[in-house]
Parts: sequence; C-alpha cells; structure tokens
Amino acid sequence: MKVTIDEYSGFCFGVTSAIEIAERELQKGTLYCLGDIVHNGQEVDRLDKLGLVTIDYDDLRTLHKVRVLLRAHGEPPSTYRIAQQNNIEIIDASCPVVLKLQKRIRDTYEMLHGNAHGAQIVIFGQKGHAEVIGLEGQTNNTAIVVESLNDLDKLDYTKPIYLFSQTTKSVEEFRAIVKAIEANRQIGEEARDIEPTFEYHDTICRNVANRVKRLQDFAQSNDIVIFVGGKKSSNAKVLYNHCLEVNSSTVFVSSVDDLTDEIIAQCHSVDRVGICGATSTPKWLMEQIKLRIES
Ligand code: SF4
Repeated sequence: MKVTIDEYSGFCFGVTSAIEIAERELQKGTLYCLGDIVHNGQEVDRLDKLGLVTIDYDDLRTLHKVRVLLRAHGEPPSTYRIAQQNNIEIIDASCPVVLKLQKRIRDTYEMLHGNAHGAQIVIFGQKGHAEVIGLEGQTNNTAIVVESLNDLDKLDYTKPIYLFSQTTKSVEEFRAIVKAIEANRQIGEEARDIEPTFEYHDTICRNVANRVKRLQDFAQSNDIVIFVGGKKSSNAKVLYNHCLEVNSSTVFVSSVDDLTDEIIAQCHSVDRVGICGATSTPKWLMEQIKLRIES
C-alpha cells in the first residue's frame, strides 16, 4: 500500500497569510479573532493554544480597546463601524481577492444609486457564509443571495440583474446559473420595449477553481481517496464532491478520529491511497492522517 498526499491540497494564499499574521500579532499580546480563522476545527484549536481568542459579533460589541483580527473571508462595513466606536484596533487579514470583490460590488451598488429602478445585485453563494455576509454588506444588505438554480424564482427578469459569485463556488454551477438567467429573461421578451441589463461577473477565485482539475487527476490515480476537510467549510464540500465524481471510493474525514477501523481496513486492501483536502485543510493534519493509515 502506497499512501500519497496531494501536493496541491492545503491552505490557499489568503488563509496562509491570515494565519501568518495571527501568529506574528500573537507575539505582541492578546489577540481576538472574529469568527473561526479558518473552517478547520483542528487548526482553530492549534491557534487557540497559542492564545488566539475566537469571538462572535455579540462579543465584538461588548469589547473595547483590544486588538481584533479579521480573517481572510472579509467583513461588512458594520464591523469596521463597531470597531471604530469601541476603540478596537483592527488587524485586517482579509484576503486581497475578497477585498477586490467587495469593492466591485460596492462600486456597482453606488453606480446603481442603491437599487434604483429595481436593479438587483445577485450573489451566487451560501447564505450565512462569512464571505457572503461581507459581500451583502457592500449593498446595505439589499443583495439577493442565490444558492442554487432553485432560488432563481426570487429574481424579477423584467428588471436589471448584476450577478457576482462567492469566491469559492464551482465554476460549472456559476455557468449553469448564468444560462438559466439568460433563458428566463427571454420569456416575455417580445412584450418589452427595453431589454433590461444582465451583467455577470465570474468572481470565483482561481486559486480554488484551478485546483479542481488537479484534484480530480489525483483522485483518479488512487484506489481510495481520503478527503480531509472541516465540516463547516463550503470549499471542502465543493472539492470533496469533485473527487467523488471521478472516484466513488472517496471518504470525507475531518480529523484522525474520523478514521474508523473500517476505513483503515479498506485502505489496507488496496494499492494506492490518496490523501487530499480543501483550501482550509492544514498540511500537518494530512500528514497525521497519513501516519495513522500507515501505522
Ligand atoms: S480561496 Fe481565494 S479568495 Fe478565498 S481566501 Fe483563498 S485566495 Fe482568498
């Protein structure tokens, strides 16, 4: 049995940078982090032991004169306002790719003078996800979030539509959403004098999108795939499903404890075991899983 870790799996540069900033800032004293720094419980625990205190929005409102780190997902304008009111020093580790997307959405919202003439800013993403909350905040929370094709009946096709995507969504799903919106707009087209605008912006992070092909090649080249990801990670769900598409013997685990005797026996019955993960999966965790299977 040969166990291999996928060399392309692991933290993206946005998450790597946020963790490096946290480690550096922790040396200067107490540091709070608004939400889990990464959607991986194991890595959160490691940083917790170094002194990083994870807080939520309710905690943020009660804190004063402390230092709070903003993670790679980015934050809505309201977070910066609360920090200013409470004399909180912000250590901004928002990923530059997310900040650029926030700016594009904010610029569009301002260009449209809010939502004048019924214009709709639509975000293809997961409701309640931290990044999506940050994006909605750029539109004064007027954006419409669609999670799948089933949500498209929320849109008014007689009014302008400006579509953006959460950075970690699948490119194929985004294309399917664009196609469905175009098809819906054609209904009743003859009756209209002016064709309402439909602009779409593929704002999916290529750091994630480029991984799919490599990950699928890796999954196909192994008999069993152990996919390591956090239960709360949306990117982990997307990438796990891509592995499953090409290798039905793909197993999702979040920690060494999830490796049941049955999974380990399965691994020992084949020649090639592949270990891979999401952009939020630490390399050290994949190494631990490898050691456990081998031992
Ligand atoms: S997936 Fe892309 S946008 Fe998201 S944190 Fe990583 S590098 Fe930034």
